[in-house]
Amino acid sequence: MAVQIDVDYLVDLLVRLLRTPSPTGNTGAAIALVESAFGQIGLHTQRTNKGALLATLAGRSSERPRALSGHVDTLGAMVKEIKADGRLRLTQLGGYVWQTVEGEYCQVETADGRTYTGTVLAHKTAVHAYGRKEVEGAHTDKEIEVRLDERTTSADDTRALGIGVGDFVSFDPRTTVTGSAYVKSRHLDDKAGVAIMVAVAKALVDAGLQPAQTTYFYVSPYEEVGHGAASGIPAAVKELLVVDMGVLGDGQNSDEYTVSICAKDSSGPYDLAFRRKLVDLCQENDIPYKVDVYPYYGSDGSAALRAGADLVVGLIGPGVDASHAYERTHRDSLLHTARLAATYLVFA
Ligand SMILES: [Zn+2]
Repeated sequence: MAVQIDVDYLVDLLVRLLRTPSPTGNTGAAIALVESAFGQIGLHTQRTNKGALLATLAGRSSERPRALSGHVDTLGAMVKEIKADGRLRLTQLGGYVWQTVEGEYCQVETADGRTYTGTVLAHKTAVHAYGRKEVEGAHTDKEIEVRLDERTTSADDTRALGIGVGDFVSFDPRTTVTGSAYVKSRHLDDKAGVAIMVAVAKALVDAGLQPAQTTYFYVSPYEEVGHGAASGIPAAVKELLVVDMGVLGDGQNSDEYTVSICAKDSSGPYDLAFRRKLVDLCQENDIPYKVDVYPYYGSDGSAALRAGADLVVGLIGPGVDASHAYERTHRDSLLHTARLAATYLVFA
């Protein structure tokens, strides 16, 4: 017997989540959205001191509790400095290169909650003013700035808008669902994983199926800076299944149409017995999957283990192309990841 995933619900929730800015350190609105989604399904939710969300689904047994984790925090930036010309110098939140956000629309949220739009640009972008050679030059923290859509030509003008050092900057996700069922957007890493977790909980509740073990859905607010799940996973949890993106690129095994099962990332191998169990579940249930190694990658599983959690960790996720840039995945990858997670929770 298979668990039916409502993929329309999954994609709809994913789109709403993608359109809710949540750079690491400013994830309140996204956490609230996920909290209300879990609440509507009927799960009990609570928040940790650090701001993570924990939703609970009682199992047929509570002997060996499990957790699924996904992170709502995304790449973003913070105002580092207001320049003399009124533009904003940025510091990065999370790991990416400036080229992947150059030309992107952005939003600045001030300390008092106002928002302003702008564009991320290198200072010397105008080819008519600087010539091709200068425009092609270095694109580092020093050159990248935000051009605000406001009449400002000085630092004082910008300060008068209420903008200050420490304000959060989020990038326009440009979320699009194509007729061919691709989801193109920034921040599929890891809003796709979070939407999958909620869709899995909904599938179980809709079908009247209890998970084999009491299950916690952990929604992490600080994964991109490395310490997300270092706290907040209940101490009784024996198995942690991280739902985060699968890596695509030259030599990678993963794709946008299957569930990717991680064997190893930069933090080392994931639990072997757990991985084998996930592979067996795919084979027994005709779930298309790819086992893969992620060369430059860490997860909330690594964070939990480094923090001293005594549990086994597995990692699965949809294959995401051009990660930490303008990303893309396909509805099939979302579906099969959700199918594997649901099958694991109910039947393993
Ligand atoms: Zn991630």
